[in-house]
Amino acid sequence: MSDRVDVVVIGSGYGGSAVAARVAPHGRVLVLERGRAWRPGDFPQHLPGLAGAYHTRRNPLGLWGMRLGAGVGNAYVSGVGGASLVNYGITQAPEDHVFDAWPVSRTEMAPYYARALEVLRPAPSPLADSLGDKAFLDGIEPGRRVDLVNTIDWERCTHCGLCVPGCNLGAKRSLDVTYLAVAQAAGAEVRAEREVVALEREEGGWRVVVRHTGRALPEEVIPARHVVLAAGTFGTLDLLHRERRHLPLSDWFGRRMTMNGDGLAFLYNTRHALSGHHGAPITTSVHLPFVDPDGRERTLNVMSGRIPKVAMRFSALVLGVFAHALGKRRGPRDAAGARAWRRFLDLVRTDPRGALAHTFMYKLDAEDSSNGHAVFDADGRSALAWADYQQDPIVRFAAHRLEEWAAKVGGVLVPDVSGLPGMRSFGVHPLGGCRMGASVEEGVVDTAGRVFQPSGEVYEGLRIADASIIPSSLGVPSSLTVAALAERVGEDLVQTLRTAA
Ligand SMILES: Cc1cc2nc3c(=O)[nH]c(=O)nc-3n(C[C@H](O)[C@H](O)[C@H](O)COP(=O)(O)OP(=O)(O)OC[C@H]3O[C@@H](n4cnc5c(N)ncnc54)[C@H](O)[C@@H]3O)c2cc1C
Repeated sequence: MSDRVDVVVIGSGYGGSAVAARVAPHGRVLVLERGRAWRPGDFPQHLPGLAGAYHTRRNPLGLWGMRLGAGVGNAYVSGVGGASLVNYGITQAPEDHVFDAWPVSRTEMAPYYARALEVLRPAPSPLADSLGDKAFLDGIEPGRRVDLVNTIDWERCTHCGLCVPGCNLGAKRSLDVTYLAVAQAAGAEVRAEREVVALEREEGGWRVVVRHTGRALPEEVIPARHVVLAAGTFGTLDLLHRERRHLPLSDWFGRRMTMNGDGLAFLYNTRHALSGHHGAPITTSVHLPFVDPDGRERTLNVMSGRIPKVAMRFSALVLGVFAHALGKRRGPRDAAGARAWRRFLDLVRTDPRGALAHTFMYKLDAEDSSNGHAVFDADGRSALAWADYQQDPIVRFAAHRLEEWAAKVGGVLVPDVSGLPGMRSFGVHPLGGCRMGASVEEGVVDTAGRVFQPSGEVYEGLRIADASIIPSSLGVPSSLTVAALAERVGEDLVQTLRTAA
């Protein structure tokens, strides 16, 4: 048994690393991460490598995995830095009306967003104006464009398009070089390849039971005064579900989960020179207003998506087949010969004159109605289930709006294939399940991330600071909001440590 630490943080994604950075100057902080450390040069560059990095029980140090529930599936990441290792680093705060449904206001959250931005330091791509997407979006939805910033070091970035499997050039400002570096500089220890398998209460704190990931070594028990669960939506749900007999929770546990409106569709082989073949990350979007059947204002965010270069050749071929089999040709078209020539070029190589380079990829995030819920398999592994996700009002609005776009600009609309029998909608922003609320009647944690007991009291020394506490869909990518909430949780924890000192 080791000495008692002040704070054990479980997971090193946006939530865990932000809390660790805030708390490390005020006590002994230990971050436990089940995944391995990934360095530039380690990330898979080809589809077989990506398949080999799939996280399973037999490959416990794999980089990424999927959790499948009825109707939907979601990707997750395992490694030091969490999903920052593989994302495009789009860094965006939600629109003000999102906070109307939260127990904390936009004004109260503003300083925490500002602090998170100071550490993450996102910046716009120097290529963003030359890619064609901005002019294309301005033509379709005038006055609605919202340009994006990414946590990328643009001086190092070569626009190779390999952000998503992971940057081998060290150009990504992933958490290992931002928040975790701040935490470590302030004395926090980060232990990789350590999976927390149980949490037990003891007098004045907690016993954190840890396994060496993938190695048959004895379990370690780490005593801690405070525990911050930041294992990502699925990791946190898994752990709390396992402990529910000893740690009963609010009735909200596992409810009101959201896909954050995730969706994907293509406008294939248009007349417009776009940048579907380009390796630049996602740099621009439009925000479209929508009023739901209850009269609530919501936002549909259509980003100009990118196919990761690792999958580009493959996608060009698959898209060509899908467009032929399922696509709906809409609107103005140019000569059949020109279209066929572009498709032919894609068969030969990735070409700026090819069909993929004339394709718009709709990457959707939206304020869906957060009507998903957690399900658990026989081993207690969680997934988000939402059988009729495709019928959510804003998802239907998105499908309708994309049809209108296609009619305006032409091209083959390759719809979200999840509408087909047996298919699911896939996402990367599973949020909620341990939602923040003003009381146990409204949530699983309070506005400082402290976990409610069913009585309404909080468990002393137990907090959650990750995507699972987000109370509603955001309509924009989620990392900045996770970091901002974790900043808030961290600030409150620092007060508690100071008071106890
Ligand atoms: C492919 C992809 C692209 C994305 N693109 C963007 C984007 O461009 N912009 C954006 O804002 N958002 C993006 N997101 C979403 C964003 O990255 C997540 O919302 C965010 O990472 C959530 O932060 P988190 O701290 O909740 O969890 P995570 O970042 O998932 O971190 C959780 C960590 O906990 C670890 N863990 C889990 N269980 C245990 C355990 N029992 N013991 C120890 N460690 C454990 C995991 O291994 C993981 O490293 C993307 C996500 C993915 C998957």
